[in-house]
Amino acid sequence: SGPDDHVIVLFGATGDLAKRKLLPGLFHLATAGLLPDGYRIVGSTPARSAMSDDEFRTHAHDAVATFGRSKPTGPVWKTFEESLSFGAADPQDPGPLLAAVRAAEDSLGGPSRRLFHLAIPPSAFASVIGMLGDTDLAKDAKVIVEKPFGTDLASAQALNETIHTVFDESQVFRIDHFLGKESVDNILALRFANGMFEPIWNRDHISHVQIDVPETLGLEGRAHFYEGTGAFRDMIVTHLIQVLGIVAMDPPVSLAAQPLRDEKDKVFEALRPIEPAHVVRGQYEGYLDEPGVAPDSSTETFTALRMEVDNWRWAGVPFYLRSGKSLAQGRQAITLGLREPPLRMFATDPADQRQDRGNKIVIDFGDPGWIATAFLAKEPGPAMRLEPATMTFGYAGSFCEENGLEGYERLILDAMLGDQSLFTRSDGIEHIWRASTPLLENPPPVQPYAPGSWGPEPAISDLIAPHSWHLPEAGQMFPGTG
Ligand code: NAP
Repeated sequence: SGPDDHVIVLFGATGDLAKRKLLPGLFHLATAGLLPDGYRIVGSTPARSAMSDDEFRTHAHDAVATFGRSKPTGPVWKTFEESLSFGAADPQDPGPLLAAVRAAEDSLGGPSRRLFHLAIPPSAFASVIGMLGDTDLAKDAKVIVEKPFGTDLASAQALNETIHTVFDESQVFRIDHFLGKESVDNILALRFANGMFEPIWNRDHISHVQIDVPETLGLEGRAHFYEGTGAFRDMIVTHLIQVLGIVAMDPPVSLAAQPLRDEKDKVFEALRPIEPAHVVRGQYEGYLDEPGVAPDSSTETFTALRMEVDNWRWAGVPFYLRSGKSLAQGRQAITLGLREPPLRMFATDPADQRQDRGNKIVIDFGDPGWIATAFLAKEPGPAMRLEPATMTFGYAGSFCEENGLEGYERLILDAMLGDQSLFTRSDGIEHIWRASTPLLENPPPVQPYAPGSWGPEPAISDLIAPHSWHLPEAGQMFPGTG
């Protein structure tokens, strides 16, 4: 069944995220019939950016028209538009917001469930959360918190403390849109609904794991945000390690939020502190000339690293994570490399002898995403020669994608339903920052790399040896090497 009636308060309503993802996402949920029968959306900003209800409706219309998958027309848009109102709030003057929330609730026929989405800069979290506590708006409400969840262990602990002065952990939804992706969610189905993957999903059969999210885009004018963040905090901590949690977790006793998050958090607790010697940091050539970048900036635009999960299932299996800007390709992929069979009885020429013949399972979690296995098959002919072969499942072409939701859409819906399964808990976040501390305290110097390349050479040749990065195209025969 769908969510109860809700008043959703969107803090940061004029911001980039609200414009590109949240307003279009909410409207897509409306067109998909997934919002509750009664819903109201109250936009909010500090008084300096206050709008009238009509101005906010125009703002939302433009955002949906520019960035939405569903166009702002027809009866669903009319209802959506009528649900929008605006209430500015400063900590010393929350009056307009309180009035807007009250009016929204009255129009729904009385108090309803409240969901606050904090799409605001981290520096604003404490004052907005404090205001929600002081005004009692927080009572029985839910709150979606945007990344970053701190920038190191101390700041993450401080942020969690701030949140917990007003909200119980059961009310908090720390959002990571990667975890709302169909294809990431499908890892749970692949692993736990099938009999053929989970038995080999461990150190006895898997030699290494790669989680690889290269991006082709550069800074795109976002120096103000990126300079103090860098690839490790922007991508590795928030997204890639979260995906690692899903790949590495033990089977939960059920898919309910608590057992699922317990198992994921156990992975984070088992993360070995990152050794700076196992990290390659890079910066693309030209980054220092980008507007807003300090001339001597050591912000990394590329991070590749080796992590280890010190538990029974994964001891000794390296997890290689890589992400960076201005790289050769934009992809989101997980590769599990399998150990070779104990004996090479098919080798017929020296080239075969040199090949890494380990089978691979590749999960591409870009949109629409696919899963493939790479194995060896006999080439037709009199000789016993082996060639790489592939079996591929693609979302496109296998399922009707009309029902698909984007990460944000799925997660906002889950938050309305009160389902915390795909949201990160405070202890999980702190474990990740704890493991990151040695790297943050002692980062290796950034190495330059050419835009459009695969990053600094040591990330390709040294870090991952004796394996190599493996990013096949969908449907392509896999190279047998690497
Ligand atoms: P943004 O474009 O700078 O917008 C920030 C919004 O917050 C504006 O509406 C701003 O209003 C408002 N705001 C600023 N200070 C505030 C305060 N003290 N109290 C209440 N509201 C305040 O930022 P953004 O890119 O949308 O990012 C918002 C949050 O989402 C950040 O935490 C960011 O890390 C996270 N996030 C962003 C993205 C993305 O792609 N943009 C992706 C993932 C997560 P004014 O116009 O009055 O300043």
